[in-house]
Amino acid sequence: MASPQIPTEQWAQVVEKTGGPVVYKKIPVRTPGPDEVLINVKYSGVCHTDLHAMLGDWPIPTKLPLVGGHEGAGIVVARGELVKDVEIGDHAGIKWLNGSCLNCTFCNQADEPLCGKPLLSGYTVDGSFQQYAIAKAAHVAHIPKECDLEAVSPILCAGITVYKGLKESGARPGQFVAIVGAGGGLGSLAIQYAKAMGLHVIAIDGGDEKNELCKQLGATAFVDFQTSKDVVADVKAATPEGLGPHAVLLVAVQEKPFQQATQYVRARGTVVCIGLPANAMVSAPVFDTVIRMITIKGSYVGNRADTTEALEFYRRGLIKVPYKTVGLSKLQDVYKLMSEGNIVGRYVVDTSK
Ligand code: NAD
Ligand code: ZN
Repeated sequence: MASPQIPTEQWAQVVEKTGGPVVYKKIPVRTPGPDEVLINVKYSGVCHTDLHAMLGDWPIPTKLPLVGGHEGAGIVVARGELVKDVEIGDHAGIKWLNGSCLNCTFCNQADEPLCGKPLLSGYTVDGSFQQYAIAKAAHVAHIPKECDLEAVSPILCAGITVYKGLKESGARPGQFVAIVGAGGGLGSLAIQYAKAMGLHVIAIDGGDEKNELCKQLGATAFVDFQTSKDVVADVKAATPEGLGPHAVLLVAVQEKPFQQATQYVRARGTVVCIGLPANAMVSAPVFDTVIRMITIKGSYVGNRADTTEALEFYRRGLIKVPYKTVGLSKLQDVYKLMSEGNIVGRYVVDTSK
């Protein structure tokens, strides 16, 4: 079943070789399989993961040629014959987990990001940096009609991921959470989800523009990692009695803060690793970890329920995405700014330009 005006060709940004750059060109529009939908992507957020994928930063290879992107917001224009719960005309989102087996232990327990046979948008299958993208119907995000497709797009990865990470941190209302990389795409949303959950936020990032944004979004304190003489001392000083935050959300793209966080987290606190810098290790002294009863854990995107919940926070007006929009044809310029650490909030690409 399909709406009539689907073209056979479309504009896309294609990674032809690992290392990049992306090539803006016309490629064919695919037909969805029996359990898939075709989404006319209107806007897509640009996540640092897309840059890692192009550069080959991680131990798992991407498909090649690759269309990146996994924060795609658009309109369903075709569906396979087995699809019953997604209608033509629905507003839907392409997220990182494009599909999973739905049958393994992890899928059965709503831990589908841990499925051993995942389809990953913009990594193992083509993603949202094209005008028409395919997704498994069971996994598409259902975007409420009143949400603006442009502004909501970054929720589809950044929002879901930090919302899940905050839940994994175990932090409770009234407690303190440090967000490391707070001025970036994930961080700027993490500040707001944390605030909406009743947490105090200590934002850590670099530069005046990010400082200003973090404060404006509700952070209690800002520690500038580029100018601070002692990040550990400054983070502790921003918490009551200098005991340190109850939880730390690491969404930075450098290794150093992953080594630092256990030094300032409060005793019995939790360090949640989310950022994925290339070739990085997380390590901590055994002695400290034991006698201060520190938890160090990873958090990876979110399941379908987390997706719905993260979107609902947005629909209720609790989250304002700080974004700038450029045409899809300018994606390589966005990657340049991103690799220099010069993006405040998120960039969104408009697939019509
Ligand atoms: P981004 O580039 O928008 O933001 C990263 C921020 O980290 C920047 O503002 C940068 O200034 C800051 N930073 C760099 N070094 C720092 C330091 N030493 N201390 C404090 N801040 C520092 O990137 P993003 O799109 O927000 O993604 C962040 C990371 O999260 C990426 O590695 C991405 O791949 C990863 N990610 C993980 C998941 C997951 O499920 N675990 C999901 C999405 C993204
Ligand atoms: Zn992402």
